[in-house]
Amino acid sequence: MPSPVPFAPARRLLDDDLLEAVRSRAAGYDRDNAYFADDMVDLVSSGYLRALVPESFGGAGLGLRETAREQARLAGAAPATALAVNMHHVWTGVARYLHDRGDASLDWLLEEAGRGEVFGFGYSEAGNDLVLLGSRTEARPDGAGGYTFHGRKIFTSNSPGWTRLGVLGLDSVSDDGPHLVHAFLDRDAGGFEILDDWDTMGMRASQSRSTVLDGAHAPAARVVRRLAPGPTLDPLVVGIFTTFETLLAAVYTGIADRALELAVAASRRRTSMKNDGAPLAQDPDIRWRLADAALALDGVWPQIDTVAGELDALVDRGAGWFRATAGLKVRATETAKQVVEQAVRVSGGSSYFSGNELGRLYRDVLAGLFHPSDDESAHSTVAQSLLGPLG
Ligand SMILES: Cc1cc2nc3c(=O)[nH]c(=O)nc-3n(C[C@H](O)[C@H](O)[C@H](O)COP(=O)(O)OP(=O)(O)OC[C@H]3O[C@@H](n4cnc5c(N)ncnc54)[C@H](O)[C@@H]3O)c2cc1C
Repeated sequence: MPSPVPFAPARRLLDDDLLEAVRSRAAGYDRDNAYFADDMVDLVSSGYLRALVPESFGGAGLGLRETAREQARLAGAAPATALAVNMHHVWTGVARYLHDRGDASLDWLLEEAGRGEVFGFGYSEAGNDLVLLGSRTEARPDGAGGYTFHGRKIFTSNSPGWTRLGVLGLDSVSDDGPHLVHAFLDRDAGGFEILDDWDTMGMRASQSRSTVLDGAHAPAARVVRRLAPGPTLDPLVVGIFTTFETLLAAVYTGIADRALELAVAASRRRTSMKNDGAPLAQDPDIRWRLADAALALDGVWPQIDTVAGELDALVDRGAGWFRATAGLKVRATETAKQVVEQAVRVSGGSSYFSGNELGRLYRDVLAGLFHPSDDESAHSTVAQSLLGPLG
């Protein structure tokens, strides 16, 4: 069957053997609620964590579009592994975004990623729906341009694996007014505790545990921005938003792609007594359902390619980037959820057994609902671009 992916990325880092090895471990990690340690070893040794790092920094120099396609392939093999690794790609992607636009403030990150450091994303907090534009974590000035951080971050993916953690906190004591502080922590410097509290219905191998920051220190050289709270077009924030949403869309689209593949196989395997033992692939209702899922999915790939391709090409959409990438994330994650559900319907009751791959994809794909931008926030972004701010 031809792949529903209309065209392959120009360059690939993940070979099929590596993807098969990753796929073969996914059910065990899920069952045991275990970290994807062996996947990480393979991904590091394949150079995949340097995908977005420019060649001049020791990386592979892939663009965002190419990396999005690779992330979709990885997600098709092991969604939780892809989601956790996504956080690292987000940071190297943001550093690349800034570098390509003449801003060297995260060039050190490209150098460190080129040398093998692994970056985590420690931004989310309980009940913080301002996401990038506010924080409940205290950023306390150290008097020398650096900060200590005090607060609790939730859903920190790749908790066992990161060596550097990007964090956001609020400095409300400095004389020049409140500032949101974006900075990076070094795992070896300590000042934090990772809780053993990850036991979820899906994305289990991502081990997105809570991180309690208790004086973790970022020296001045690792403070990337101090920004006034509230809306901003600062390139760091636009870079985080656009890179995060685009790569996240790719992960969930990769899950849907795999679900469709499994459903096609199931429709050939399952037979109908009603139709004299003919495979369900000959049943017009099943054919319609599979086609319906493919029609929805086919519309997402070009959107990912176009958005990622425009970011690679440095297209300046200004504030329009928020609408473009929030819309992409919501369309991709909602479509993925629908496609996986169609796949489950086609595949029948076997997918309801724990240990079944499609059943796991059904649990994993649900996580797409929770990541920013959630449905409400994306609609509010688009409404604002159409109608202006609420009066
Ligand atoms: C699989 C997965 C991986 C993720 N990985 C990352 C990552 O690596 N880095 C990252 O920054 N984010 C990550 N996220 C977080 C994600 O981006 C969202 O922030 C997260 O899903 C919370 O969404 P929410 O707003 O619906 O949660 P909330 O409604 O804020 O709920 C989250 C938790 O906080 C509690 N809570 C809610 N409101 C309050 C309150 N007012 N006071 C006290 N407790 C409260 C809830 O009971 C719940 O336990 C990940 C999410 C998922 C699902």
